[in-house]
Amino acid sequence: MKGGTMITRLNYCLSLVLYLFFTLPARSQDKYPQHYFINPLDIPISLAGTFGEIRSNHFHTGLDIRTDSREGLPVHAAAAGYVCRINVSPYGYGHALYIRHPNGFVTVYGHLSRYYAQIAAYVKNKQYELQKFAVDLYPKPDEFTVNKGDTVAFSGSTGGAEGPHLHFEIRDDKTEDPLNPFLFDYSVADGIAPVIAGISFYPLNDSSDVNGSHNPVYMKTVIKANGYALSCTGGEVEACGCVGIGIRTYDLARGAENRNGPYSEVLTDGTDTLYYQRMDRLSFASIRYVNGHVDYAAFKKMHETFEHSFLQDNDKLDIYRKLTNRGIIRFSKGVVHHLKYAVSDFQGNCSTMQFDVRSAAAPASIFHDTVKYRGTINWKKAFDYRYRGMAIHIPAGAVFGNLRFNCSAEADSQRTICPVYHVLNEYIPLNTSYTLKLAIPASLPDSLLRRAVVVQMEGSKISAVGGVYDSGSITAHPKTFGNFSVMLDLTRPIIKPVNIYKDKDMSRTAAIELQISDNLSGIAAYNAYIDGRWILMEFNPKKDIISYTFDNHVTSGRHHLKVVVADNVGNTNIYEADFTR
Ligand SMILES: [Zn+2]
Repeated sequence: MKGGTMITRLNYCLSLVLYLFFTLPARSQDKYPQHYFINPLDIPISLAGTFGEIRSNHFHTGLDIRTDSREGLPVHAAAAGYVCRINVSPYGYGHALYIRHPNGFVTVYGHLSRYYAQIAAYVKNKQYELQKFAVDLYPKPDEFTVNKGDTVAFSGSTGGAEGPHLHFEIRDDKTEDPLNPFLFDYSVADGIAPVIAGISFYPLNDSSDVNGSHNPVYMKTVIKANGYALSCTGGEVEACGCVGIGIRTYDLARGAENRNGPYSEVLTDGTDTLYYQRMDRLSFASIRYVNGHVDYAAFKKMHETFEHSFLQDNDKLDIYRKLTNRGIIRFSKGVVHHLKYAVSDFQGNCSTMQFDVRSAAAPASIFHDTVKYRGTINWKKAFDYRYRGMAIHIPAGAVFGNLRFNCSAEADSQRTICPVYHVLNEYIPLNTSYTLKLAIPASLPDSLLRRAVVVQMEGSKISAVGGVYDSGSITAHPKTFGNFSVMLDLTRPIIKPVNIYKDKDMSRTAAIELQISDNLSGIAAYNAYIDGRWILMEFNPKKDIISYTFDNHVTSGRHHLKVVVADNVGNTNIYEADFTR
């Protein structure tokens, strides 16, 4: 990259960012107190994830702060306040802690390995009282008050974390909306502009196309002296009718390989701003609209994230700052559109890309789908359909736009007890779950029917969707379309002792560990007892391990362990062993 061109690009980006920033109704400095919150760790902030970056089925709602690949780093209260919530779950945020601050914000700390002494004792008491590992607790304001910098917990990798890090969030206390922590002056050194890796084009109705194709068109980019450009031969794109544009982009930080999300994305058509999104605030109520915001099929098929720079009909995200015609371009009359993307990180590093799209003449033949459809789902209305023992109910607002509905059935496979139904396909996104009711043969005895579970079958992968059996049919609530049928789960869960056996001397062992798994419907519950009294076993679903760490609930001497595990259709298994301590 030559110095001169770099400055030109920076000037464009800078003026754009300043223009957009100062045209906001309220200046962010007023809304977001600066220097109020401190770094919750003792080491400088380095990020493995940014606010708003796209994950599976959601936007990331905080910062993922690196912990030097270690666990157990002290986690400090980012400001004074009180612990208002403690959530322990084997999934999601794992061991999480929430602090309410007097200025209207709540900070959240996730994937913790453990809590600080008094808090840890409080949580364990509640877990024994409720006889549950997963608990959601709301201490009173005077129970755990904290000063800025107090150690409240230790970092870890519990819940859905793929490696050790601290998930840190700042929320608006009133709305519970997560806010971009960068707005509170968390300065992070970053001198690298986002990468624009690809551009996509979407013909949006039956009479639109791009380069003669009615399907989405994906193009790679190259970096040139004046920014990114399309790498296609000739560099010319032709479009006709209503077309949406998408972008594959990510941000990099120096010294780190991971791809973070950028802060803002702007698409202009000449002097008009078609589309401008910025990651300041999200809402948990609308976060699943991410599946309509991204090109869901590309995400599923190519594992690549293309974001739409236009809105679907059903879109309630709060990330758009300016839109013209919902970002959709109408190509007609031979006009050449001079399009330009500007993608920035929070530090103001910006990448641009210019490309022209020429309006092509209307295609000789209008696109005609050869598939026979069974109806159209109007996204604003509920949709009901019955077909050969299957009844489907898709609630209003579940899909992102009007959609042609299709389904078919195949004879029972050897493993299933009813036909395999094809309901649209797994590449079509959904915003909410829907209801799927499948009839199962009355010839089976009731005892077997109660072991039935709805399964989704994609290729060789079979996953249980659950379901409740009632008089001849089973009803489930899938969150995806695809291939569905019903199977019987007649197998008990498996309990495999990891470090315990009959009459073992456990006096030098810190914890009892067992591995639990189920072949189909999944584990519904597990409970463990020593000498008939319930004991707390933590569950790590990443390793399928349940573990009890020896504490004052077990004295020295001879003891009896009993572990009971049940799956989702009621098959249970029991493991028992005597041991000494
Ligand atoms: Zn996170």
